[in-house]
Amino acid sequence: MIGDRSDSHAVVSRRQWLAASAGWVAGACAAPFAAARMPSEPKARIAVTLDLEMCRNYPKREIVEWDYEKGNLDEPTKRYAEQAARIVRDFGGVVHFFCVGRVLEQADVSWLARLADSGHPIGNHTYDHVNMLASEPAQTQFRFRRAPWLTEGRTTEQILRENVRMTTRALDQRAGIQANGFRTPGGFAQGLAGREDIQRMLLELGFTWVSSLYPPHPSGTPREAPGESVYQGIVDALRAAQPFRYPTGLIEVPMSPISDVTAFRAHYWKLDHFLTAIRRAVHWTIEQRAVFDFLAHPSCLLVEDAEFRTIRAVCELVRDAGDAAELVGLDSIAARV
Ligand SMILES: [Zn+2]
Repeated sequence: MIGDRSDSHAVVSRRQWLAASAGWVAGACAAPFAAARMPSEPKARIAVTLDLEMCRNYPKREIVEWDYEKGNLDEPTKRYAEQAARIVRDFGGVVHFFCVGRVLEQADVSWLARLADSGHPIGNHTYDHVNMLASEPAQTQFRFRRAPWLTEGRTTEQILRENVRMTTRALDQRAGIQANGFRTPGGFAQGLAGREDIQRMLLELGFTWVSSLYPPHPSGTPREAPGESVYQGIVDALRAAQPFRYPTGLIEVPMSPISDVTAFRAHYWKLDHFLTAIRRAVHWTIEQRAVFDFLAHPSCLLVEDAEFRTIRAVCELVRDAGDAAELVGLDSIAARV
């Protein structure tokens, strides 16, 4: 991982990364990427997206059991999600949520229905937070490795398909919510490129767009303040995080770096570092009239950013940009690809 290298190799590694990144952009998605950055775009489009799941290592480092019950949201996580939605709503925007299906097994799902009723789009994040690029059943999820009888007799493809399908059904049956888009658990450096089988599965399951690509970017050395090369490397990576269409017709709306879990969980960043990186990324996006897909998790942010400073900062930058930027859901972004 680029983010794990030492600072002494930062310049060389970043150069290598830029070369690799350029190769990728020049390859599979050159044309749509160029189109996404045409200067004729009237406004930058900025989305605040929150994944509704429990994150390992939160609220305490030693907690990893969430890997087996991603959808067992605790009260603080639900309250953070609701408050974040109110803040973004006050700025005239929406939060695009992605919900793990198992959330719908909880005793009370009225809070989720209220979010949807307030106009916040809610997308499908699979039922158990499965790895959509898994090549065998045991790789799909920690839960199925511990309890293999849950998936016995089924192929990887069947497990993945069922995990996506059930989530759409659960949102509808339990909360009356129509799933708005699909986000893969985890982000992939090349998204679903080369996996036409998964692209087709999602198209068959009713999705026209997916959010699966998270571009490589530098993150510095864990526990050390990120340097200029890290901040600039994150901004540079945004070029590889613009929407495009796969050959199957499925649209990709990438996640934009840096995510909360990459910054705080993997690299022990302080909130001010995260704020600096996100502000610089949003500035670039507004300048370029590009797309920014802020990616975070209430179960992580409630510990790392209890005062909602990052979400407010994103909203304030969009407000201060006037006609040059707007807060939108990922469905609006996908509709213009
Ligand atoms: Zn997730």
